[in-house]
Amino acid sequence: MELNWVRPDRGALFVVAGPSGVGKSTLVSAALAKLPNLRFSVSATTRAPRPGEVDGTHYRFVDDARFARWVDEGAFLEHATVYDHRYGTLRDPIERGIEAGSSLLLDIDVQGAAQVRERLPEAVHVFIAPPSRDVLRQRLEARGTDDVATIARRMELADEQLRGCADFDYLVVNDVLEQAHTAFEAILVAELSRTVRRQRTTQQLVGG
Ligand code: ADP
Ligand code: 5GP
Repeated sequence: MELNWVRPDRGALFVVAGPSGVGKSTLVSAALAKLPNLRFSVSATTRAPRPGEVDGTHYRFVDDARFARWVDEGAFLEHATVYDHRYGTLRDPIERGIEAGSSLLLDIDVQGAAQVRERLPEAVHVFIAPPSRDVLRQRLEARGTDDVATIARRMELADEQLRGCADFDYLVVNDVLEQAHTAFEAILVAELSRTVRRQRTTQQLVGG
């Protein structure tokens, strides 16, 4: 009898949200490198790629017309306008992935998280918070991907994201990075270990 400790019968859907610059990509990339059967859900967006971003890996970069067509066709599990651009999670790869036993990580904003909460109640919601607004600003500056005006706008919108944090199942404060990695991965592993997701394994164990 061979048991795979993190392979559920039905995959889990992890929604990760928090203000831009808080460290979502950092935490998500590390978890993806460490945990098997976990995949990143590649969103569609109308924003332009940043240097180093690859179409199909970081995002599917599409024009406004294609995004609008997918909205009309009901292709999105959720979609929202963030920082003047449209972002959305395509429904099909999510449903197929979960049914095949893969788990998916969605890095989306709080408006999108609210839509997923309504449409897929089984999803697990994790909010990543900064230790303070000042630290958040420093991280955005240190990342070096945005100009001064964009950083100011992201700081304005950070408050909107922070206001939604109480609706999430878990809160990770990303202060000392190592501790945040540990907390984030503990949440993922605990959720993947729940017996409701492991009914095939529990049946094997009792000899069924
Ligand atoms: P997000 O995906 O939420 O926009 P990133 O993962 O891109 O945020 O992180 C923003 C910046 O902050 C990056 O330069 C990243 O290396 C840095 N960073 C992330 N977590 C920490 C931390 N705990 N301490 C210091 N810097 C961090
Ligand atoms: P960025 O442009 O910095 O990659 O992302 C900006 C914001 O858009 C982040 O808060 C990110 O979580 C959010 N975002 C990325 N993809 C999606 C998506 O598919 N849906 C929603 N609702 N938000 C998204």
